[in-house]
Amino acid sequence: MPSDAPDALALSTPHTSSTTDADDVATATPNGFAALGLHECLLSAVVAAGYTEPTPVQAATIPRAIAGEDLMVTSATGSGKTAAFVLPALDRLARSAQAGGRTGPRVLVLTPTRELSLQVTKACDTYGRHYRGLRTASVVGGMPYGAQLRALRDRLDVLIATPGRLLDHLDSGKLALGRVEILVLDEADRMLDMGFIDDITRIAAATPSTRQTLLFSATLAGQVGRLAADLMRDPARIELATHQDTHTQITQRLHWADGRGHKDRLLDRLLADPTIDQAIVFTSTQIDAERVAGNLEAEGHAVAALHGGMPQGQRTRTLTALRKRALRVLVATDVAARGIDVPTISHVINYGLPITAEDYVHRIGRTGRAGRTGLAITLAEHDDAHKIRRIERFTTQRIPEAVVEGLEPKHRPQAGAGRGAPRNGAGRGGFGGRGGPGAGARAPGAGYRGSAGPGGSRAAASSDPRREPRRAAHHDQPAGEFAPRRRSRP
Ligand code: AMP
Repeated sequence: MPSDAPDALALSTPHTSSTTDADDVATATPNGFAALGLHECLLSAVVAAGYTEPTPVQAATIPRAIAGEDLMVTSATGSGKTAAFVLPALDRLARSAQAGGRTGPRVLVLTPTRELSLQVTKACDTYGRHYRGLRTASVVGGMPYGAQLRALRDRLDVLIATPGRLLDHLDSGKLALGRVEILVLDEADRMLDMGFIDDITRIAAATPSTRQTLLFSATLAGQVGRLAADLMRDPARIELATHQDTHTQITQRLHWADGRGHKDRLLDRLLADPTIDQAIVFTSTQIDAERVAGNLEAEGHAVAALHGGMPQGQRTRTLTALRKRALRVLVATDVAARGIDVPTISHVINYGLPITAEDYVHRIGRTGRAGRTGLAITLAEHDDAHKIRRIERFTTQRIPEAVVEGLEPKHRPQAGAGRGAPRNGAGRGGFGGRGGPGAGARAPGAGYRGSAGPGGSRAAASSDPRREPRRAAHHDQPAGEFAPRRRSRP
């Protein structure tokens, strides 16, 4: 395990940007962001980040958010949605004077997981780099209270938090939300899935009713729609991309496997592919994540495990090592499916299938980011055929089958049960089609043969007691680290 200094310190400590003033920074380069009306300190940061054109979600959201509208936005993972709310939020801060004397953040971002909080904090640093004196802080579960309390005592512009720990500070009187001008709910659907509805409602009630609310979610239906009706004022809906028309930049592939031993051999062969820059191998259970990572380490891979049962410090160090490329392979449960934004992840391998089809989409979205292409390979046992069908129905894309020479499956799911999926997913990547081949293209790497897929067999879902529980897998406060009190969640 690498021993890099944990990002965690930065996470819970307020930091003030120390670089140049907006006026010092040349923003003369023609840039598609110029038309969006952003403050020039933000334009210059966008230029410095190397962005030339706003993504569709940014182009649609930023001007309306700057105009002060409440917005409900759907957009695909990896589509640039973080900048779509961070930039207009910083724009508001940069343009309006500080109402001095009071503490508490002016912008509050709620995220479902610690990992996502970390990503948003990083985005604030990136886009706020030319904003002199910007102060951001993050409070998330599983981290020491001391640094968080110090951060909350000082003047603060942006606070990024997971709901449980934020409520804890609110209830203990250490945090005031009376200055909040913009409330952002990031991945609102996932926060509701995790049972945070009451927490979100209470947090929102502690902010001024005059605030602007921006909600981002994979879906705007059901509970998310009800939450929006409660919390938002006449929100405009921006629906850009759904699960059905995303991921053209990610090539998907399916390998049938006869069992665990066969999957291990397939994984071994797949990871020998020299075109892999970095890979995430997803498992269904924490035990599998440890086992697979242990096996790969024994084979000499630069690998680590990441799952909800690990202490937060270790999780943060592992993510830092991944970002610094000290790791080539991360073996993770779904706790890592959201929030990891490492553009050099070229491959995602599903060693164990996710519980929901939505999780599949989030897993494969860890690759093919920031305009790059990616390959998502799923290893499925025969009993998984129904899950594959469910994923294909959800994405409306068929996952092309392939075999590795010398490691062909002895058995395949019977034809006839119909793996055939509707195929209307024309695809629209977040970066305007700069991606590579769409689903179904031949996969890179030697030794693979595509094959026309037979139909799938109907198989009963197996319930694996070692499977990481859905709540624990995503919850930002695993049992033991911080026991949620006062709150009852479904
Ligand atoms: P997100 O969907 O917010 O997680 O962003 C996905 C990735 O896209 C991140 O690595 C961002 O740095 C990158 N990104 C965001 N906006 C742009 C843009 N307009 N042009 C190029 N890359 C971008």
